[in-house]
Formats: sequence, C-alpha cells, structure tokens
Amino acid sequence: MKVRTRFAPSPTGNVHIGNMRAAIYNWLFARHMGGEFLLRVEDTDIERSTPEAIKALLDAMDWFGLDIDGEPLYQTTRQQAHLEAAEMLLAKGLAYKEDKGGTGQGECVIFKMPGTDSSFVDGIKGEMTKKAENMQDFVIVRSNGTPVFHLANVLDDIEQGITHVIRGDDHVENTFRHIALYKALGADVPNFAHLPMIVNAQGKPYSKRDGDAFVGDFRDKGFLGDALFNYLALLGWSPGDDREVMTRKEMIEAFTLERCQSSAAQVDLRKLTWMNGEYMLKLSREEFDAIAFQALETAGIDAEPEYAEKVFGLVRERVKTVADIVPMVGYFFTEDFEYDEKAVRKKLQKDGVVEVLNQVKEIFQSLEVFNEATTDKALHDFVETSGLGFGAVMAPVRIAVSGIQSGPDLFPLLAVLGRSRTIERIDRTIDQFLQ
Ligand code: GLU
Repeated sequence: MKVRTRFAPSPTGNVHIGNMRAAIYNWLFARHMGGEFLLRVEDTDIERSTPEAIKALLDAMDWFGLDIDGEPLYQTTRQQAHLEAAEMLLAKGLAYKEDKGGTGQGECVIFKMPGTDSSFVDGIKGEMTKKAENMQDFVIVRSNGTPVFHLANVLDDIEQGITHVIRGDDHVENTFRHIALYKALGADVPNFAHLPMIVNAQGKPYSKRDGDAFVGDFRDKGFLGDALFNYLALLGWSPGDDREVMTRKEMIEAFTLERCQSSAAQVDLRKLTWMNGEYMLKLSREEFDAIAFQALETAGIDAEPEYAEKVFGLVRERVKTVADIVPMVGYFFTEDFEYDEKAVRKKLQKDGVVEVLNQVKEIFQSLEVFNEATTDKALHDFVETSGLGFGAVMAPVRIAVSGIQSGPDLFPLLAVLGRSRTIERIDRTIDQFLQ
C-alpha cells in the first residue's frame, strides 16, 4: 500500500515551529517511503482561519520547500460530508442526541465510546493503552450544527486515504477517540506516530515567551529556510550517526520513525545559528550576493554592483545569518557611518595617534599602486621603522576607515575601499576626533 501522510494545520496567522516540524517529518517520511505528502487546511475556525492566516501557512511551506502532492483539501468544503457521517452514526445507534446541560439551546450529537479498553502501537512512543472507564462519550456535532474537530479530522483522513498520521503528542489522548471513530465508520485505522513536544530550558512547551517561536520570526531574523528545516529535522530525530548538516536527499534517505526520539526536544538557538552559518557558507557566490543585495535594498542602501560584490566577498565567511550582513557592511556604503564610542575613546583619543594617522596617510598617498599587497607591506614596514606596536598602528587605521574595531582583514578591506575613500576617511576622523 502506498504511504500517504498529511500536514493538517489549523491556520491562525502565526506558524509555530512545532507545527512546521510535524510537517517536515510527514514530508520526510512520505518521501523516504516513495509515498505522497498531502496538505489539509483545517480551517473550520472561521474567526482565525482568515485568508491572511492561510497565506502565512502556505508561505511557510514554500519557504521550507515542502512540496505537496495533489491539491490542498480545505476542511470547510467538507462540512456536508461530516454531517452526513454523523447522521449515519446516529442511524446505526453509534451516536445519540442530547441537549447538553439542558439549556434548551438544541441538541448535540454525541459519539458513544464502545466501552472497551483501547490500545495502539505508536510509531514513536510504542504501545499505548487506555482503560474503558477513562474514556467518555464525546460531542461530534455541536448544538449549532457544526462538526467538531474529532469527527472532521478522522473523516478527512479517511477521505484523503491517509496511512500514517504523524502529529504532536498533544493529540495522543485524542487518538483513542479517533480510533473508536474509525472503527465505527467502518474504516481502516491508520498508523499513528506522536512527536514529543518542543520545550524550553525548563522543560515547558516552547512558546513565544521563550523567544522566537514562529517561522516568520526566524525568517525576519535572517535565517535561511534550508537551515531551519535541517535544524528542526534534527530536533527529535537523528540519522543514527553524528551527521548534522545534511542535504535534503541525505535526510530523506536516512529518515525513519524508529529514529525519532520519544523524549521532549529542547530548542538551542546557538546551535541553530551555527547551522545557519554553515548553510550561508554553502551558498554559491551568486546566491550569497543575491541575498546580500536584497538585504541592502531592504535597508534602503544604494549600492554600485561591482563595488558591492567586492564588499560581500570580504564578509561572506563571517556572516552567520542574513541579518548580520547590513551591520557588517554598512560603513562601506556611506561616508556618514557611526563610530563606536568606546573604540574612539580607547584607541583613537590617545597621545600620538594623530601623528600615526598622518603618517599612514602620507604613506598611502605615496604608494605607486594601492592594493592589498602594497598596503600590507607599507604598514608593516612602518611598524618596523617606527618601533610602534602592530596594534598601535592598525587599530586607529581600522577605526578611522570603518568606525569599529572588528571586521574583515584590514588590507583587503582597504583595497576594496580604495585609496581616495581611505584617505578621506582618515582626514575626517582626524578632524572629528583628534583636533
Ligand atoms: N489541526 C490539528 C492541529 O493543528 C490537526 C492535528 C492532526 O495532525 O491531526 O493540531
């Protein structure tokens, strides 16, 4: 039988990383098994399932490259079928009507639990059982005539021919009810696998309060979809060896439910940042430049392409997230860059610095050619002949041309800035801070 999995989110506008991890596992499992991965939008909560919320969800899937088989199924289009199934259960005596609470507001349809113990083998958690006395009858159609989640979810899984339901373990309790519904509806019970929660350092469900919890937050912070995908794939699953940065193909090949862990998975943002840096390094020069140009554009920075490409080349190996780019390269594109106050105080406003900068300026002016090799040699010669320390020369030069103490290697940086910009910046720094 062909494996069919699905992602069945209830769109709310914000897509939690826990939901996306469920989508990723369903996708990886389907692709590993040569099966199909479907999407069902559980949009019955009319207030929250707005077109914007649905778009946010589809965008998140797109960003992660989660391609679906067939068309998405929108649960609201199935209401008639859900109500007909409830009628059928009533007709068979497997459900009954009751005015819950006796409020006179009308009757709900209630599903009758079979009154026997229930068990299933969870693909991740193993054997799960529940005693008959701990399972109560439950509402499947509200008194206002709308179907309840349990009924809609099970009927749509039957409709979509789902063979494996992989979802968060907040649904374990529901699964006992769902199994009874499958049986009452005369349908095959699918395989279930419940993923452990994603938790914070205190072991509590990871939420907005713990930091970024929604896919959009990570996107805004400059993470790459591929890196977050890889990180989430490993948040509760391991390939069985120590591989961490993996291609899609490798993840698909290695993915099995047996290798999913049953204990809660803890978010580690440092690890995610590291992994994102690895993905940034894997980008081709063209891909990196395209992302960097986009970042400049968003920041309203106008950049001459040839110059900008040289600048990107200086920083690309240091960039961990897309959001690092603008702060790292900003000073290349404006003469109005900010100076780090502490750097100015500690490294510039000291005896002798003005003389050093003036001498460096003269050396630069006298160079026949101004490039990485010539500036490197000239400043090293100057350090030697002047008897000054290396840092006493390089630090003021760096701060004068960039405003900050850290950044790419100084000589390639000077070469990209070029002679006239470098000299103008040294002059301006002297005027501004050392007069
Ligand atoms: N809409 C439900 C949720 O997002 C579906 C759960 C399931 O995968 O069955 O929690």
